[in-house]
Amino acid sequence: MPPGRAAPRRIPRPVGSAAMIEHICVTCGTQFAPTDGPPPSCPICDDPRQYVPPSGQAWTTLGDLAADRANALRDDGGLTGIGTEPHFAIGQRALLVPYGSSNLLWDCVSLVDDATAAAVEARGGLAGIAISHPHYDSSMVEWARRFDCPVHLHAADAEWVMRPDPAIDFWEGDTLELDHGVTLIRGGGHFPGGTILHQGERLLTGDIIQVIPDRTHVAFMWSYPNLVPLADAEVQRMAAAVGAFEFDALWGAWWGTVIPGGAAEVVRRSAARYSRALRGDP
Ligand SMILES: [Zn+2]
Ligand SMILES: [Zn+2]
Repeated sequence: MPPGRAAPRRIPRPVGSAAMIEHICVTCGTQFAPTDGPPPSCPICDDPRQYVPPSGQAWTTLGDLAADRANALRDDGGLTGIGTEPHFAIGQRALLVPYGSSNLLWDCVSLVDDATAAAVEARGGLAGIAISHPHYDSSMVEWARRFDCPVHLHAADAEWVMRPDPAIDFWEGDTLELDHGVTLIRGGGHFPGGTILHQGERLLTGDIIQVIPDRTHVAFMWSYPNLVPLADAEVQRMAAAVGAFEFDALWGAWWGTVIPGGAAEVVRRSAARYSRALRGDP
């Protein structure tokens, strides 16, 4: 930890009281505000854009997560990815977006520990965090406190924040211009505040725009686990929102979901195919 950085805040525990712990949902990876027992349910997993497994709602904590998992940092299509191994919850990897002499963390993962913080600091640290949608809120507040930086979150998804914190900067409207050529675009679709990051030739989409396995197309859904599609008009609106920006490469939410070139045409072609499919002619 560099000089001047505060150690992660520990909640003082009065003698004899129950432990106040931030629980983490095992299925979606979201960290909740501290409670003295597991929360009654996970609203994010109760929502039909996620799911509760047949085995029922389960919880863990940052400490338990750190005991048997670690974060890997490695190149993913020219950006440094950060992902937890072995696989945890939804299994997304976050990305470090170059941001002057520092980085912007795009999306987030549940685990943050000393080794991760040191590895990120060695790459310039974090100046901010931007999140695509509530499924990747994960432990964003824990990260924000670790790196003393803000979290940029679209206000339309504020109701899904399970650990409110002053570090969260809610933005409104269709775009938010940050520094170093970064623009956050409200894509909507999967979630009303569904956010996409643009910088130079790059478009980072989380699963607001989903990269499909052979990398020749992308797809758009309201619920991925429940396979519920979006209305065609919403998909065409999303495609137009990102089509207003020039980009060549596109990063999805998981390791290797990268379209290295020609991604603007891939998005156009995929939105057109979506439209045809809904008319019965894919
Ligand atoms: Zn959950
Ligand atoms: Zn999602």
